[in-house]
Amino acid sequence: MSIDIDWFLTTVAGIVKDKQVPVVDLIAVQTEDPFKVLVATILSARTKDETTAAASERLFRYAPDGASLALLSEERIAQLIYPVGFYKTKARHLTLLPDALQAFGSQVPDSIEELVTLPGVGRKTANLVVSVAFKKPAICVDTHVHRIINIWEYVTTETPLQTEMALRAKLPEKHWIPINSLLVAFGQFVCRPVGPHCDACPLQAKCPQKGVHPRKKPGAKMAKNNVLKCISWNVNGIRAVEKKGFIDQLLSFDADAIAIQETKAQADQLSDTLKNIPGYTSYWHSAERKGYSGVAIYTRIPPLAVHYGLGDPEFDCEGRVLTLEFAHCYLINIYFPNSGDELKRLDFKLRFNDRLLAYAKGLERQKPVILCGDFNVAHKEIDLKNPKTNVKNAGFTPEERAWMDSFVAAGFVDTFRIFNQEPGQYTWWSYRFSARAKNIGWRIDYFCVSGGAKDKVKGATIRPEVIGSDHCPVALEFLLEG
Ligand code: SF4
Repeated sequence: MSIDIDWFLTTVAGIVKDKQVPVVDLIAVQTEDPFKVLVATILSARTKDETTAAASERLFRYAPDGASLALLSEERIAQLIYPVGFYKTKARHLTLLPDALQAFGSQVPDSIEELVTLPGVGRKTANLVVSVAFKKPAICVDTHVHRIINIWEYVTTETPLQTEMALRAKLPEKHWIPINSLLVAFGQFVCRPVGPHCDACPLQAKCPQKGVHPRKKPGAKMAKNNVLKCISWNVNGIRAVEKKGFIDQLLSFDADAIAIQETKAQADQLSDTLKNIPGYTSYWHSAERKGYSGVAIYTRIPPLAVHYGLGDPEFDCEGRVLTLEFAHCYLINIYFPNSGDELKRLDFKLRFNDRLLAYAKGLERQKPVILCGDFNVAHKEIDLKNPKTNVKNAGFTPEERAWMDSFVAAGFVDTFRIFNQEPGQYTWWSYRFSARAKNIGWRIDYFCVSGGAKDKVKGATIRPEVIGSDHCPVALEFLLEG
């Protein structure tokens, strides 16, 4: 039985009425200018609305129309629109746009067939321009519209183009123009691509929910059987790994806390989806330098307190340490410095290590400490494939290994080795020489705990099957006291 589309869309309109108006609609309302709507629509592909709005404003200051756009070089356009997604390709398309518009008297055409002849304009963009700039019936089917309308089983289609055609045949014309902005907002805030908020959705009783895996209600899940399940993973760039299915992977861990290293992103570079994974609260400590270092923790157990860094600006500007305090333990997520080429940063690393050890020992006076992360050192010969040839290399120098000895002597326990004494157990492999396929690797990612809490460790494993980074995750199960 087909849904009542009038009721569904009217209900959605009520849900999203306070949400931000999509930037392209906003520009249409503010300017009533098809040229600006077209350019903003081109810029908006694979770009957050705030970024599109700022880039459009910068570009329109110098190029409010086709004639002035023609005076700008491709490099200058790229400069003005950076950091929109694919800014170089978009700059090339915009450079070609004034010439292409000459075929239409230097005006933006108002039909889909004509619009798709312009550089960088596909069917989705053309539909959006026709509907938003010219208020003519058109259905802009983007990923949200295609996904949600199929979830509702209003159409059954494989591609956005099929969806557009099916909707043209079936959807009452009064819904053609608004459906895009309604379902984009609804898809961002409620019916999200991963873990839609069905528990809070007024459509739930009538929604077919085709192929949907709703979120678990936030806060519903706490540590099962009093065992804290933790994951630590150096993702080597959170934005890169997001494109490789990071969110689904994170949810599949079913862990209480997931500590991430090398996020290589600042808060304003993170997508809303990354910051708001259903069921989890995330905390981020980023480096001041863009695209460098950075740590984060996703937790579904609310922490009592959060501490950013070590309290020392020399190290904290690099975003390497993030601590959550729970009722029964501290969890410290650390991205240790790399000693670098020719060991140029070895001294810095050893200073950081000593500061970190003092910090952890200080916390340990109050309750057990779990330390996890990329330690950037293989402790013993068993922890890397080729110990002999790496003695002078970063990550296996006598100095770094000696510090690891002192860390263990200070009472901290390498939890993986409680359970596993086998060689060939690695967490990092070079991208070169098919190292991962040949298992030529290093074990440099650890979960360590205060010596007094060793008996609480119920499991510690390496998860080499998880791909997406040059590191794989490591896992810990830790008994919390009642
Ligand atoms: S009930 Fe769930 S699947 Fe259906 S529209 Fe609402 S959020 Fe989407």
